[in-house]
Amino acid sequence: MNNSSAGRPALSRRAVLGAGVTVGATAAIAAVAPGTAVAGPGRATPFGRGDLPTGVRGAVLLPGDPGYDAAVSPFNLNQIPRPGVVFAAAAATDVQAAVRFAAGRRAPAGVLATGHQPSVPIGPDAVLVSTRAMRGVHIDPRRRTARVEAGALWDDVVTASLKHGLAPLNGSTGTVGVVGYTLGGGLSPTIGRKYGYAADHVRGIDLVSADGRLRTVTAQSDRELFFGLRGGKSNFGIVTALEFDLFPVTTLYGGAIIFDGRDAGRLLHAYRRWVRTVPDAMSSSVALLRLPDLPQVPTALRGKLVASLRISYTGRPDTGAALVRPLRAVAVPMIDSVAEMPYAAFPAIHGDPTTPTPAYERTGLLRELGADTVDALLSIAGPGRDVPLAAVEIRHLGGALARPPRHPNAVSHRDAAFTLFMAGVGGPEAAPVIRKAAADVVRVLRPWSTGGMYVNFMNTDDTSDRSVRSAYRPDVYRRLEALKRRVDPRNTFRLNHNIKPC
Ligand SMILES: Cc1cc2nc3c(=O)[nH]c(=O)nc-3n(C[C@H](O)[C@H](O)[C@H](O)COP(=O)(O)OP(=O)(O)OC[C@H]3O[C@@H](n4cnc5c(N)ncnc54)[C@H](O)[C@@H]3O)c2cc1C
Repeated sequence: MNNSSAGRPALSRRAVLGAGVTVGATAAIAAVAPGTAVAGPGRATPFGRGDLPTGVRGAVLLPGDPGYDAAVSPFNLNQIPRPGVVFAAAAATDVQAAVRFAAGRRAPAGVLATGHQPSVPIGPDAVLVSTRAMRGVHIDPRRRTARVEAGALWDDVVTASLKHGLAPLNGSTGTVGVVGYTLGGGLSPTIGRKYGYAADHVRGIDLVSADGRLRTVTAQSDRELFFGLRGGKSNFGIVTALEFDLFPVTTLYGGAIIFDGRDAGRLLHAYRRWVRTVPDAMSSSVALLRLPDLPQVPTALRGKLVASLRISYTGRPDTGAALVRPLRAVAVPMIDSVAEMPYAAFPAIHGDPTTPTPAYERTGLLRELGADTVDALLSIAGPGRDVPLAAVEIRHLGGALARPPRHPNAVSHRDAAFTLFMAGVGGPEAAPVIRKAAADVVRVLRPWSTGGMYVNFMNTDDTSDRSVRSAYRPDVYRRLEALKRRVDPRNTFRLNHNIKPC
């Protein structure tokens, strides 16, 4: 027991679940930040209305058209796409029409589902496919699979699959798009260490390639394209539907234990020893959260630095409780919501923001988390440091995430032990200080870095050739370059963390 914490009452599980997503660092800030949205490069377009294809089931919109702004509005408000034309697709044939339209004009073609992951700016020369109207989900309980359309969100899939006693390898929040997440690997904080990356369990991919053809890609139909798509994101085409495995999980022993920032050192040092001992059924992370002083945040947490331990265990609750006991004992928590929970409540574990937020993000991968790593992290982002980072997260990898999948894919760096993820909330005026703070953390942790990055956590500052290469093993990157040359030699799909044709 930590004496310095004695006397501070722990809030109940009900209090934290009742507070909902506001426990997450950025949600409350998002509530006051919408005015900081960054406008794109204006309302210009080189595309004439008369040039637009007919017969599209959804809508084809030029800047200024009603519906255009809604079709391009992103979750991360720091980069609002301003394409010359947006195809608000309602069917795979609409995606084909958009890609053919772009290819015919040598224009870049991009794809937007939720706008959680900005990369390069999308301007008037671009054709953008918005997949938001394509939210279909079909569950096959016998085969334990889901088939989803391009715009489906994790919330859609979790709701549908739980009706059959099954869960997917979803991410920390239900508002992220299934396809973008899965093509970048798909690191599930609930059952990822038990089953591996979401990309490891994809069975088939419907893809519109740069020639405008719609094809189903499987391990049998095109081994190399199936390899590259799972990890290579939108570099090889636009996915219109995805089929993947589900798992027999309906409850978790999970939640968050939130400690006062003053106890961050105790927690992190105990955590680094603890992770070496836990089974694959235990997924976890620790985040240093700087919470705003706002009414949406539980009173005890307002304006504070806290250390949030996130737990998700898929075994028996009593075994989970025994596993978590040593971490519960490091100090008196301010909030302890870890208990048996329905799988559907998974977003409460991380408490991520659910409303659009202007944010800058940085990432990295760590080989290990030793005593000196923790001390270094605390020295730059711990108590007493006034840094503009709403969240600094260390997420445990290993387990099935470290094992090769049945059908090899481009997801790399399986030997990394932890992801490092940072987010600062604010518009362009805040960018310099957020970027500097995040760069300082990256610099201080460099001795323990693998030098790599996890594709899904890369953002606007990670679009250089060098950054994109660092997301893949060198041999994997060479395969992806060669694949790109075969399927997209003109680099039509370049509005992303781009792999160039070699
Ligand atoms: C709050 C938050 C929590 C997150 N939690 C996790 C997590 O737990 N684990 C994890 O792994 N990641 C997580 N992420 C990262 C997330 O997986 C990526 O941001 C992902 O790319 C989001 O996909 P999207 O479609 O929602 O976003 P978008 O910004 O719409 O798309 C991002 C990119 O995905 C690709 N893409 C999207 N749709 C298609 C398509 N139909 N065809 C081809 N490519 C496509 C494109 O390259 C596109 O540029 C999180 C992100 C946020 C902001």
